[in-house]
Amino acid sequence: MSSDQTHIIVGASLAGAKAAETLRSEGFDGRLLLIGAEDELPYERPPLSKDYLRGETERETTYVHEEGFYAEQGIELHLGRRVVSVRTQSAEVELDDGTRLRYDRLLLATGARPRRLAVPGGDLDGVFYLRTLDGSEALRERLVHGGRVVVVGAGWIGAEVAASARQRGLEVTVVDPASVPLERVLGAEVGSIYRHIHADHGTRLLLGTGIEAIEGSGGVERVRTTDGRTIESDFVVVGVGVEPRTELAIQAGLSVDNGILVDDQLATSAPDVFAAGDVANAFHPFYREHVRVEHWANALNQGPAAARSMLGRGVAYDRLPYFFSDQYEVGMEYSGYARTWDHVVFRGDPASREFVAFWLVGDHVVAGMNVNVWDVTAPIQRLIAERVAVDERKLANPEVALEELIPQGTGSVT
Ligand SMILES: Cc1cc2nc3c(=O)[nH]c(=O)nc-3n(C[C@H](O)[C@H](O)[C@H](O)COP(=O)(O)OP(=O)(O)OC[C@H]3O[C@@H](n4cnc5c(N)ncnc54)[C@H](O)[C@@H]3O)c2cc1C
Repeated sequence: MSSDQTHIIVGASLAGAKAAETLRSEGFDGRLLLIGAEDELPYERPPLSKDYLRGETERETTYVHEEGFYAEQGIELHLGRRVVSVRTQSAEVELDDGTRLRYDRLLLATGARPRRLAVPGGDLDGVFYLRTLDGSEALRERLVHGGRVVVVGAGWIGAEVAASARQRGLEVTVVDPASVPLERVLGAEVGSIYRHIHADHGTRLLLGTGIEAIEGSGGVERVRTTDGRTIESDFVVVGVGVEPRTELAIQAGLSVDNGILVDDQLATSAPDVFAAGDVANAFHPFYREHVRVEHWANALNQGPAAARSMLGRGVAYDRLPYFFSDQYEVGMEYSGYARTWDHVVFRGDPASREFVAFWLVGDHVVAGMNVNVWDVTAPIQRLIAERVAVDERKLANPEVALEELIPQGTGSVT
């Protein structure tokens, strides 16, 4: 097949590495370059706020592939190298050392970067952000010394870092303007379950307030909140969300709106240029709108999907959004995408921390989250994808298998 062609992937993380793997497994035998700004082999980020951060695992366990994989597959891995421009007219990329490379197909898998906290003292020594393996290692070393940490933001990263820091014995205060942790995605009712989980583990939650300033002479000494409190602190971890890394796409003139706009086969507005993972705002056939998903499973699956599109074998990417989180001894998986809902139905007692929550619009499930209950993702996703009208009493009853709620003879969800 097309051995005189060159395909280039920008961003050597999960989406990029899985795309490279798929290009080879699908038979592409031309030149294949995987270019990444970080000096590390492509790695997975979820452990960076969990086991790796707590010092329970080593760097190698985060790698997407073993070191030898890239050479074996004939994938030219360029690490510590940044692509500084894309010229779609001449189908070229330029690296930070001035090298220009022509492509036949280009994949942008440039991911996301943490949003900065714009307050006085936000750049003091001892203010940590968490996105990279090096960043996790620096924080891991800081956790070893113990002390008091203020976690800014009670979203997924903040909540997981708070849990890991508590598990390492630190004194932890979480500050967030929301009324409960994880409120943006889970809503107040389910988020309050997480408030109890954190409180029960001794994490102090200051909710409904923001950060006014971080203070200290030389390094972090205290944090002031917008409601006038002062929290003595040895260091701060900021987790206030991420923004897609769209600068290359903007400079190249691609359509960008909350990420790189791509169609349902992950093609951008420019010929032969694709995007996948955290940076891609992809048209989703099920939701009939663009959806940008900042989660592991999306990078894992969109990378291969984009690779197939690069080979002219694309199909619509219609997987439902899915993510997982681990905090203390509480593991969860969430499927679907619910911006608004009418009410939440629980299967099992939330107080037991073994339950499934369903977000409903009318009698349709739009999202489901299983907490310390496993092997139910497939039926939850089918309830959503097949737009099943559910009987709420059966939905709430753990004695009724979820599969029984799905009408016979309907298809399955990938
Ligand atoms: C601490 C942490 C914990 C997480 N935990 C979970 C979890 O529990 N569950 C879950 O579902 N998701 C989790 N996620 C989210 C998940 O890790 C991301 O969705 C995933 O990493 C996205 O992968 P990606 O390949 O799209 O982008 P990224 O992982 O962001 O990688 C993009 C890469 O592109 C490189 N790059 C950018 N611009 C250029 C350029 N111009 N030239 C060269 N290289 C460039 C970057 O340096 C980076 O290495 C977590 C994320 C973090 C940070």
